[in-house]
Amino acid sequence: DLAPVTRALLSVSDKTGLVDLGRALAARGIELLSTGGSAKTLREAGLAVRDVAEVTGFPEMMDGRVKTLHPMVHGGLLALRDNADHTAAMQQHGIGAIDLLVVNLYPFEETVAKGADYETCIENIDIGGPAMIRAGAKNHGFVNVVVDVEDYDPLLAELAAHDGQTTYAFRQRLALTAYARTGAYDAAVSTWMADALAEAAPRRRAVAGTLAQTLRYGENPHQAAAFYTDGSQRPGVATATQIQGKELSYNNINDTDAAFELVSEFAPENGPACAIIKHANPCGVARGETLTQAYGRAFDCDRTSAFGGIIALNQPLDGATAEEISQIFTEVVIAPGADAEAMSIFAKKKNLRLLVTEGLADPRQAARTLRQVSGGYLVQDKDNGHITADDLKVVTKRAPSDRELADMLFAWKVAKHVKSNAIVYVRDGATVGVGAGQMSRVDSCRIAARKAEDMAEALGLAAPLTKGSVVASDAFFPFADGLLTAAEAGATAVIHPGGSMRDDEVIAAADAAGLAMVLTGMRHFRH
Ligand code: 5GP
Repeated sequence: DLAPVTRALLSVSDKTGLVDLGRALAARGIELLSTGGSAKTLREAGLAVRDVAEVTGFPEMMDGRVKTLHPMVHGGLLALRDNADHTAAMQQHGIGAIDLLVVNLYPFEETVAKGADYETCIENIDIGGPAMIRAGAKNHGFVNVVVDVEDYDPLLAELAAHDGQTTYAFRQRLALTAYARTGAYDAAVSTWMADALAEAAPRRRAVAGTLAQTLRYGENPHQAAAFYTDGSQRPGVATATQIQGKELSYNNINDTDAAFELVSEFAPENGPACAIIKHANPCGVARGETLTQAYGRAFDCDRTSAFGGIIALNQPLDGATAEEISQIFTEVVIAPGADAEAMSIFAKKKNLRLLVTEGLADPRQAARTLRQVSGGYLVQDKDNGHITADDLKVVTKRAPSDRELADMLFAWKVAKHVKSNAIVYVRDGATVGVGAGQMSRVDSCRIAARKAEDMAEALGLAAPLTKGSVVASDAFFPFADGLLTAAEAGATAVIHPGGSMRDDEVIAAADAAGLAMVLTGMRHFRH
């Protein structure tokens, strides 16, 4: 299954490593064909190169749109060397075999990332490159296709190991990489175009992704895993700069994303805020006069769960807050910046990862989410729904006070980021009990209240902080029981979507308990 390499076609936009590769191939007696810019680079380095235009008998034309799209090239890539008809056709038309194709594509993704205009993006859609890659990869029985600068050295090593030939297994691996590249490339074009046309429906876009990191393992050590990025330049876990600490794991990336998306709900101009995440759910979220206070109040919601958590801040990390955070074991801290003092404090904690972003995420930004089921993917618009005080409908005899109203809006924002069934108790701009991921709503109400009781005991408080709190529920109360549990725990006001068959019953129970209740008309399921 060894195949010799005698002729190579090199056509690359990214010229990194091109000259060294060309020199090594030429030293093996391999003939070099190349396109305009690539040929120029090779020639300037003193290498003998044949222009593809000479092989095709056509000049490169139409601003490079047509360079290699020709039977002299595609015949040389696609011909089966062991098929008599194919070799006869090659002979008849004077087509020379191409055994090695080295291509990297027009930088479409980079052009989009730079914010280029529509026409420039269109011009950066490579046509001939993907056509050649697909042709050569199809014929991997005989042809080597290299699409990644990282594969130049392995190619040369392979040629050295097999006396100028490559093995079938090697060519197969190259073909797989090649198709992954053209697939991702076209998906990037589709995604860009869907965005450019403001095509909100997820139906007309392909799923794009570029391998960013091979992970040590997935959710569990026996699961292989990788991280793919979609080219978005928005602040978040994918674009953050890691200042220190070992590589992020699968679970770290997932939880850091949850933490950062949640804290981004709280605009920095309205004051510092902190979110602590465990297993993708918040175990404490708070505002504070200072960042240190916001962290302390978030921590006090559930100190037990916060151990080994992931912390997100809505303002740059300062020294005092870094000092507080250092008191217990934390996996990751993500913030829109960190000052020198904070960094020197964290430097002593080698295992702590610090990520800094350029600003916060925009929770209203349109985007898509994706999840897998057996046999397919579910795609939906990201939940970027949000409400203001004006959207709320008061349905009880008692209207909420201003303080209750502010806390309810805070609790509602947090509830959006808690797995359903979500129940969030808030007092004075800090969560004081979070019930997440339960199959019944009443259980979430009970668990959140129980956690508040445990914390009161741990902190030596006279009463749990749920006394005088407000409560948010991500979906309507189907029965009055959950509501009554919250009232028992001391909540005085309730925010939820409404819309149950038994709304009347639930509202009557709220009135009887002296609660204020507002309806959002919007649900925030998160599964
Ligand atoms: P060069 O810098 O060598 O002039 O151009 C290299 C780039 O041209 C590579 O990214 C390659 O994928 C691309 N390319 C090669 N042939 C064609 C073609 O026929 N049409 C288009 N649009 N691009 C091509």
